[in-house]
Amino acid sequence: MRAVNSSATATEPMTRAFDVTVAAVQELSPNFRRITFGGYSLRGFGVHGETLDLRVKLMIPSLAWDGTQLPLPVFHMEKSGWYQEWLATDPAIRGSMRTYTVRQERLDSVYPEIDVDFVMHFDAAGNGGPAANWALNARPGDALTLIGPNNRAAHCVTAETYSGIEWRPGLAQRVLLAGDETAVPAISAILESLPSYISGHAFLEVPEPGDFLDLRSDADVEITWLARGASIGRSRPHGELLQEAVRAAVPEPGWVGIKTAAGGAGPEPDDVNVDQDILWETPARMDAAAISASRNPGKPAGALPFYAWIAGEAGTVKELRRYLVRDVGIDRKQVAFMGYWRQGKAEL
Ligand SMILES: Cc1cc2nc3c(=O)[nH]c(=O)nc-3n(C[C@H](O)[C@H](O)[C@H](O)COP(=O)(O)OP(=O)(O)OC[C@H]3O[C@@H](n4cnc5c(N)ncnc54)[C@H](O)[C@@H]3O)c2cc1C
Repeated sequence: MRAVNSSATATEPMTRAFDVTVAAVQELSPNFRRITFGGYSLRGFGVHGETLDLRVKLMIPSLAWDGTQLPLPVFHMEKSGWYQEWLATDPAIRGSMRTYTVRQERLDSVYPEIDVDFVMHFDAAGNGGPAANWALNARPGDALTLIGPNNRAAHCVTAETYSGIEWRPGLAQRVLLAGDETAVPAISAILESLPSYISGHAFLEVPEPGDFLDLRSDADVEITWLARGASIGRSRPHGELLQEAVRAAVPEPGWVGIKTAAGGAGPEPDDVNVDQDILWETPARMDAAAISASRNPGKPAGALPFYAWIAGEAGTVKELRRYLVRDVGIDRKQVAFMGYWRQGKAEL
């Protein structure tokens, strides 16, 4: 946790680029590789408060025909419009921007560091995306640019005001966390932050039992690891175990503790074509129309006793959204649904 930066100003950009180098690489499990990024630039990184599900963008360099990394083009990321400039640049040289979670930070150390846990995903032919390939070959000393919270910006003075953190349980004392392997770093960091009076369930679906990691939490949250079984050749389809587990833990309708005045089932949520659009529906980002169409329009987000946080493959998250909102009747203002990636589609 970082101390408040007393010189935070409204004119500073909320996010900025940080040049970092790989300080360490650690195999956590068959499918997770932890990369520690360090750099004095990180003295300017962070939010005041727990990092929770804090996301960052990594700029992965493009590769030349011989496999060597091309230098990233220089963008003035402190200026507005840099993202449009980046999009307009030749994809062969601009690098790939990918989203990851800060699993842990040691920002107040003499040499500030953050840990990012990469899922090592490769298809049957051994092909991964740019980020997975980069992580596979990462060595101490490798340079990378990441984009994240600028601790001099007014938005970062508290974690609650920074838009790159979605965990907002409000007054809820009972929680549901559910995610696949890409959400394991975020769920792990959230669990570590929870006080003892919070109860509920956390479901984490991963490729194999070797990926069950040691998690620490003071909360009364039951943590359940689910293994698809990739290592024994009988892999269950992605997301199936997660769906089953959530349905068993939150039986429809009107689950006790989340029952609303209107009773059980809720409205059909708007359809999202997860092959075209990003599925990202979080209380902090709901518009006025969605709030007034929710089950308790008069109650602000976070005012009810139950809160759920769901992230992972977008098709799975969409199914869970339909189940929790329509069948169980959970108020949409009490759930964050986040498609972290989409099967068969590279992140832009
Ligand atoms: C807010 C947020 C936080 C995230 N945090 C993390 C994190 O901490 N750790 C982490 O590993 N990921 C995390 N992700 C997911 C990560 O951004 C995606 O998995 C990303 O697509 C990986 O980039 P890539 O270059 O390796 O693959 P891409 O080039 O994006 O995709 C190439 C191919 O691989 C497939 N693919 C992508 N990811 C996976 C996967 N995990 N398993 C199987 N197939 C996949 C795609 O469908 C596509 O077919 C996060 C995403 C978001 C939005």
